[in-house]
Amino acid sequence: MTQLSELPRQVRICEVGPRDGLQNEKTLLTVEQKVELIEDVIDAGVKSIEVGSFVHPKAVPSMADTDEVVRRLPRDNGVEYRGLALNFKGVERACSDGITKVKLSVSASPTHSRQNSNASPEEVISSFRQSAEYCREKGLPVSGAISTAFGYYAEGVIPLGMIYPIVDAYIDVGITEISMSDTTGMANPEQVFSYMKSLMERYGDVTWTLHVHNTQGMALANIFAALQAGVTHFDASFAGLGGCPFAPGASGNVATEDVINMLHAMGIQTGIDFDKMLEVARKVERFTGHPGDSSMLRLSACRKRG
Ligand code: MG
Repeated sequence: MTQLSELPRQVRICEVGPRDGLQNEKTLLTVEQKVELIEDVIDAGVKSIEVGSFVHPKAVPSMADTDEVVRRLPRDNGVEYRGLALNFKGVERACSDGITKVKLSVSASPTHSRQNSNASPEEVISSFRQSAEYCREKGLPVSGAISTAFGYYAEGVIPLGMIYPIVDAYIDVGITEISMSDTTGMANPEQVFSYMKSLMERYGDVTWTLHVHNTQGMALANIFAALQAGVTHFDASFAGLGGCPFAPGASGNVATEDVINMLHAMGIQTGIDFDKMLEVARKVERFTGHPGDSSMLRLSACRKRG
């Protein structure tokens, strides 16, 4: 059993709200609002931000203006601007000015893969090489995500044996930064601990990120389990926004303010100012026109009411 004193003392959080959060919102934010939120996130101390995706505007209208958002972001500030691309066309767009890291993605679930990218996982994987080489020519680092990595409604639990070939395919094209994404929030802490521990033992050179959704209220517990396995990179979304258009009932990403609050309470450093992130979450509520989904937003609202 891991001693709690052996937990990582410092972790890196990637704010995925501008992409995984806003992509699901009915209210479309303006370019100005998106840029303002991203600048606020930077001001709070976040060093890695998933600023948008490069997908067909008809498929995800809320991401149609990602190119414009990226063009307006502050430059040369050491902040990583990650852009998600689901196919080569998206990769070409992502490599345009401003993005500093491209994120590829494949679903472990064949059903989700069809719904999300109209291709089988094998077809998506076969496009990795062209994408990775193109990014390398452009001088951009690439990371890879495995969505529905723990389970999906159609298949149930995704066994680890289905994850290994995907990891091998990423490594084969030189991608060694990989995210295990619990797109549907089906993972539990025991599964997260055993999957992450096995992956870290098997692939020692890979930098692993955990991306969790709070569908069953297990997101923070899953992060804690991953910390025990030694994971130091986590995705989270301001105000707990998110979900997945093809994963019915999938509630939001774990809220950034909740993750920071838990980590700081445990003495784990994030380099992020909690009060500033809570302000960002409140602004997100105003911009989207609905309450966010986080414990810390609820708590701060109670305190305000006295
Ligand atoms: Mg997600």
